[in-house]
Amino acid sequence: MSDHQPAYRPSSARDRRVSGRIGAIAESATLKVDAKAKALKAEGRPVIGFGAGEPDFPTPDYIVEAAVEACRDPRNHRYTPAGGLPELKQAIADKTLRDSGYAVTANQVLVTNGGKQAIYAAFATMLDPGDEVLVPAPYWTTYPEAIGLAGGVSVPVLADETQDYKVTVAQLEAARTDRTKVLLFVSPCNPTGSVYTADEIRQIGGWAEEHGLWVLTDEIYEHLVYDGVETGSMPVLCPALAPYTVVVNGVAKTYAMTGWRVGWMIGPEDLVKAATNLQSHATSNVSNVAQRAALAAVSGDLGAVAQMKVAFDRRRRTIVEMLSAIDGVFCPMPRGAFYAYPSVKGLLGREYDGRLVDTSAELAEYILDRAEVAVVPGEAFGSPGYLRLSYALGDSDLVEGVTRLQKLFGSRPV
Ligand code: PMP
Repeated sequence: MSDHQPAYRPSSARDRRVSGRIGAIAESATLKVDAKAKALKAEGRPVIGFGAGEPDFPTPDYIVEAAVEACRDPRNHRYTPAGGLPELKQAIADKTLRDSGYAVTANQVLVTNGGKQAIYAAFATMLDPGDEVLVPAPYWTTYPEAIGLAGGVSVPVLADETQDYKVTVAQLEAARTDRTKVLLFVSPCNPTGSVYTADEIRQIGGWAEEHGLWVLTDEIYEHLVYDGVETGSMPVLCPALAPYTVVVNGVAKTYAMTGWRVGWMIGPEDLVKAATNLQSHATSNVSNVAQRAALAAVSGDLGAVAQMKVAFDRRRRTIVEMLSAIDGVFCPMPRGAFYAYPSVKGLLGREYDGRLVDTSAELAEYILDRAEVAVVPGEAFGSPGYLRLSYALGDSDLVEGVTRLQKLFGSRPV
């Protein structure tokens, strides 16, 4: 090295440890609550977890058997095409027509590591820096991170309990700017359990069409709709939108397959091709064996989810009734998914055991400390003042957990 070269100062490079882009990503609040509850449980504490968004049922046997068989076949020890097994892509196209009446081809499908990766891939593929995405809030905690990582800007549109947590066209229109590119739409919704009716979907879809927006619609809870609500898939209810719509879905919730990591996005061919190119460099194909299991799942019937739905529906009514008995809690009846999203604003700003609890985040901590019950605070979903409780847990745990909350805060007969 010659003398007049500037001094090499490795420390400055090394001081910038994590890139600004990744450093800005927050830990998943839902997984954090779940991890804390599991750690306390491992210490022997009788924690009841309402945190995790996963069915408590095992994956149906015929799906597991398909995976076992796939493991034994050396053809499945190899890569598949990056975008997924051709027969799985076709089966997903067939299933989409069967379940939502949406006709698509296998070329419009990309198989991903869960719905989560489909959301990342979709936003990474659709957004340029500065593009705005309308995000109805309360929102699932992953969306803004996926949007931000793609350089996009989340524009939350808040709907509270007085409107069943559903945004209106007027609210969306007020939030729209010249930079708005995508409307995110989720029904049934995590964290609120809200389900938009077919008419509401037509109105919102019609508005998106009128303003030339793209839509990303997350249909992962499509089969968990209660009380016979008449609903549907946005590109079917608004056919003119279909060429500008990305549908996200997966096997996690419908077939109790959260750990298998198979989801998909469906969109126009050029967009799906671009997203497939991204995946070919990022992760290549989803585990071949998991794809075979997903193939058995989507090619089979919907008997297993119908059974789970009976249990979820029962727990839904129990949890809402028991939460509603707590003074200071207001819980609208969720019509889908497996979450209750009560407002706890009436419990805030008070002292409990000499401890001032001002926010729902503090309340969730207090509940975990004192009642050994894990819930996720609304802060995680862009709406402080609420708690999310997943009712995808056993009936007796559910009753025990909410009974502890009733004892902690006091309850009245309903
Ligand atoms: N969308 C929504 C609304 C979800 O709640 C979840 C899981 N919590 C997903 C997508 C992703 O599911 P997975 O990655 O397990 O398929």
